[in-house]
Amino acid sequence: MPNSSSDFSSRPFEYPSADASLSCGQHSLTKLAKQYGTPLYVYSADQILARFMLFQQALADRSHLICYAVKANSALAILKLLADHGAGFDIVSGGELQRVLIAAPEAAGRIVFSGVGKTAEEIDQALDADIYAFNVESEAELKLLASRAAKRKRKARFALRVNPDVFAETHPYISTGLREHKFGIDIRQARRIYNEAAGNKWLTAHGVSVHIGSQIRSADPFGAAMKRVAKLVRELEIDGIAIKSVDAGGGLGIDYHATLSGPDNFNPRAKVEEYAAALETSLAGLNVQLLLEPGRFLVAQAGALLARVLYVKRNGKKTFVVTDAAMNDLIRPALYQAFHEIVPVLPRAGRSAAVDIVGPVCETGDFFARDRKLKPVEPGDLVAVLDAGAYGMAQSSNYNTRPRPAEVLLRGKKATLIRRRETIADLLGPELPLSNHSK
Ligand SMILES: *Cc1c(COP(=O)(O)O)cnc(C)c1O
Repeated sequence: MPNSSSDFSSRPFEYPSADASLSCGQHSLTKLAKQYGTPLYVYSADQILARFMLFQQALADRSHLICYAVKANSALAILKLLADHGAGFDIVSGGELQRVLIAAPEAAGRIVFSGVGKTAEEIDQALDADIYAFNVESEAELKLLASRAAKRKRKARFALRVNPDVFAETHPYISTGLREHKFGIDIRQARRIYNEAAGNKWLTAHGVSVHIGSQIRSADPFGAAMKRVAKLVRELEIDGIAIKSVDAGGGLGIDYHATLSGPDNFNPRAKVEEYAAALETSLAGLNVQLLLEPGRFLVAQAGALLARVLYVKRNGKKTFVVTDAAMNDLIRPALYQAFHEIVPVLPRAGRSAAVDIVGPVCETGDFFARDRKLKPVEPGDLVAVLDAGAYGMAQSSNYNTRPRPAEVLLRGKKATLIRRRETIADLLGPELPLSNHSK
């Protein structure tokens, strides 16, 4: 594996020398921007695989399946890359099911289907694909699953997604493991529901699943949730229900505040090992397959959003750097007050000054950073918004009728355009021809 995609650094991006362009492995981001235009998402396949291998290695002593959470970054090429290395997938919609089936049809048996609002149609598609298991989030959903399975004469393997009532320190919008959240089934009800389902010949109780939230930095809440799951598995055993798998969900966080120039204290290998150890301690003695659903941890730091500076404008005391990328391309700062490190691709001499880095969209919330120290930039310069590989392109929109960025996947010496830039014609297609509406 090339140097900086090694498993112990935060990011695959670095300045090879003081006056060189920011690079990813052997690729200059200046050249990539010239070739593919901006805004542009760039991902390191090498880092994604290195991160995936960390999970594989940390769980080597237990039967396990790493189900990549497709919603973090659903690019077909990334799904294929991971499937080729044995990954399973955690999906939350029929659309994501289609993505996996197109990218890696052979991985159908390694899919778990999560989500609070599965439709009958989506359930049918997943039954037909013979996925690994349904992570069921309510009694009503379990009933629907049973009736669809009976209709198709196909047994459905399910896990109840239990809500363990564990608090995880993260942004309130991405915390999911408390009783007050819409997710999962109250763990105190789960034993009864498993027992009731045992009488249905179209349902097979395969697992217990849990997902307590996202961007969780400490291993403790994962261990605490798994302890409650393990207790449930033992109770079910007493009831004669043999659970074969437990799914610990996703949610392991990264360090968005690591700086590219300063010391890098983030150690992904140590993080994954600590996380796996916390789960293993809680599972002690249980002979079950362990499923994980990491999303962000696999892809966030492998990606950057490249943008070109359009204007540098001063309003009173404030300086605004206006880029050609905007909140429609990366909404995390606007949606979660998320911090993303932003650096010039080819730094100029001079002092850093506090600026707001903003996009062209007509919303005050359209910013990537506020009062951020940035080296001097001029119109035409490139900046890189780092740690943008997860929930970046996946949450993008066409707001302001802005075509979405192109995406490039880097692997060793190779750069591959995995999604072409959208055109205005792509956006207007569903509304045309206009004459149909005026008849
Ligand atoms: C979002 C989600 C994940 C992935 O979360 P990350 O924080 O990206 O690891 C996994 N499982 C479920 C059920 C999810 O909703």
